[in-house]
Amino acid sequence: MRRRLLCGNWKMNLDRAGARTLAEALKNSASPLREAEYLDLVLFPPFPYLESVAEVLQGSRIQLGAQNLHQAPAGAYTGEVSATMLVDVGCKFVIVGHSERRHGLGEGDALVGRKAEAALNSGLTPVICIGETWAQRDAGETFAVVERQLSAVTEILGASDSPGSCVIAYEPVWAIGTGRVATPNEAQDVHGHIRSILGRGGESLPLLYGGSLKGDNAPSLFAQADIDGGLVGGASLEAEEFSRMLLSLSDTISD
Ligand code: PEP
Repeated sequence: MRRRLLCGNWKMNLDRAGARTLAEALKNSASPLREAEYLDLVLFPPFPYLESVAEVLQGSRIQLGAQNLHQAPAGAYTGEVSATMLVDVGCKFVIVGHSERRHGLGEGDALVGRKAEAALNSGLTPVICIGETWAQRDAGETFAVVERQLSAVTEILGASDSPGSCVIAYEPVWAIGTGRVATPNEAQDVHGHIRSILGRGGESLPLLYGGSLKGDNAPSLFAQADIDGGLVGGASLEAEEFSRMLLSLSDTISD
């Protein structure tokens, strides 16, 4: 069975006390994790709060991830954070290629691939984000865009590791933080396509959907054949809403 995964990307939100309180609340409400072996919950706090959140999460099955890393192992890169530093403070996952970095900070496909490679080399699981803008969807380019973004990564990873150690998050840019969620059919179409281009290596790979997921719309998206969970921004800051999503994801396992 493919693993199901719910990821909470806190972005540049909360303070230290708020981060600890949210982690505590999720720890107390994450009972589906105790029952479902194939279900994972990962929190991605801002860098300065990683250790503090790690401390709160001790003794639970909730895992820790970082929102970014630098591709180099160490060196003169002011303001950057390496994969080994993330492992050192307890991270197991790292997000690469988020659209807010691709489009807001100019990170291109090759850089995303190198970051994914650096993560894998240090034993971190990269959550690799791909997805089209509205203009690209409107022009009928969705499949071509995700193929290009994926192949840039798999070419670099080909030599170092199998894509089986990664997680792919399909996040249509037009759905991120906009309240405009992809329909289950729209999302499944792209997820099915991604699974097919990954070939046999993609059969066991968790494919997440991201973009305005909420407690209400999550069940119908999680019910799709090739959607194995979600990458959640805004709604992951609300413990109750996020816990509802975890529950609907766990239901797809027992069904
Ligand atoms: C995200 O940041 O990856 C995301 C999907 O954000 P939101 O859930 O707020 O759309």
